[in-house]
Amino acid sequence: MFKNCIAGEWVGSEGRENISPSDTDDVIGVFAKATREDVLDAISAAKAAFPAWSRSGPLVRHAVLRKAADEILARKDELGALLAREEGKTLPEAVGEVVRASQIFDFFAGEALRLAGETVPSVRPGIAVEVTREPLGVIGIITPWNFPIAIPAWKIAPALCYGNTVVFKPADLVPASSWAIVDILQRAGLPAGVLNLVMGRGSLVGQAIIDSPDIAAITFTGSTPTGKKIAAASVEHNRRFQLEMGGKNPMVVLDDADLGVAVEAAVNSAFFSTGQRCTASSRLIVTEGIHDRFVAAMSERLASLVVDNALKPGTHIGPVVDEGQLQQDLDYIRIGQSEGARLHFGGRRLERETKGYYLEPALFTEATNDMRISREEIFGPVAAVIRVKDYDEALSVANDTPFGLSAGIATQSLKHATHFKRNAEAGMVMVNLPTAGVDFHVPFGGRKASSFGPREQGRYAAEFFTTVKTGYTLA
Ligand code: NAD
Repeated sequence: MFKNCIAGEWVGSEGRENISPSDTDDVIGVFAKATREDVLDAISAAKAAFPAWSRSGPLVRHAVLRKAADEILARKDELGALLAREEGKTLPEAVGEVVRASQIFDFFAGEALRLAGETVPSVRPGIAVEVTREPLGVIGIITPWNFPIAIPAWKIAPALCYGNTVVFKPADLVPASSWAIVDILQRAGLPAGVLNLVMGRGSLVGQAIIDSPDIAAITFTGSTPTGKKIAAASVEHNRRFQLEMGGKNPMVVLDDADLGVAVEAAVNSAFFSTGQRCTASSRLIVTEGIHDRFVAAMSERLASLVVDNALKPGTHIGPVVDEGQLQQDLDYIRIGQSEGARLHFGGRRLERETKGYYLEPALFTEATNDMRISREEIFGPVAAVIRVKDYDEALSVANDTPFGLSAGIATQSLKHATHFKRNAEAGMVMVNLPTAGVDFHVPFGGRKASSFGPREQGRYAAEFFTTVKTGYTLA
């Protein structure tokens, strides 16, 4: 059994099977279910470990993070296969995600050596002023299932880099990749209690974290309804919180787009990683001059994609993560049809050699922006083409959504690309690129219902994981 890690010990007796969505006969392992008492022990351990870790020098933190980065990279193929097996993204996508996790640890290993403050002249004579950053205390980290190693990495690495201790709860569906990085960090030399792993259900394990007054801050990625619960509990405890939630990201295609570039960007945005990315685009907003050519080219490209076991060479789209998510995707396909959109391609459940949750990518046409398939996050390989007159209408439809994570445009016009970058109501804007796919050294996050709090990743992570102190000294 793969156990929880509390105060440096591996503990737990009762477990839950982790099943592969590509092959429901494939049991990846049994992972311990934490109890409420386990969570409270983990929080106490993290609290006890905080004073020493927060005062540990930059070199200690650098060494642990660097060692973890190296081991993750050295084991990328094995960890990638594990990730693909438990989450269902294809092996190349999974290996890419593992490499990304290594790069994130490497980046924050470097940041540990670059911690700095400011000295500022006082407005009063004879006084020295300094501005420094300090860690917050125990950070609660709660993550979703769709990026089982990258999202934990981009929360754990900065938390530790800046001197915080951690209680980490991964998504119930994908504990194996999280277990692996906690194991790697423990062996890289983290003192006991600095990083604690508690696996299990959100309503029990996650709830125990958010209800604790000893958690100084919570960083969460997941759905909007859970995010709202975390916000309410955090306000109650007067604690800092950061939420990365859903998306309904627009991909605009203008008449002057390079058709090949537009189709590749749209196929990647909507269907790769089985459409299960917060930055996925499920609204393809296309101007009428290119509409028919775009739809024809999309259909041709979709027909060439192989949906199969995530580990099989040649698979382009792996399975949906579980039966519940597959049923949700099929429900939305029915809803789209009943609302009057035309199911132009795909949308059927598929059977493959191994028993799994396979779904043909689904493309709707004749959709409008007020349909439920255009307003609600589906989180599967389902996208809708919305026909518009011109750029102005495209921009207005793109922004007409409660969400604001990522927005893309395919165009060869510098004028429209520049205008779109300035006016898209999203945290990230892509020109001639998919809406998904970001760098690790620059800010990540969105606006409106997609995000709350400071941005994640890169140097901006310091905004969330540290608090600023201003010191005055009579010189
Ligand atoms: P989810 O909200 O169901 O679960 C996220 C995490 O919260 C899990 O670990 C879950 O166990 C935990 N949780 C559930 N109930 C809880 C409670 N009461 N208290 C504390 N924790 C609780 O989301 P999911 O289905 O795992 O992930 C899919 C969602 O994540 C999608 O909406 C997607 O858009 C979003 N997402 C957003 C980003 C982003 O950066 N904006 C990135 C990836 C995924």
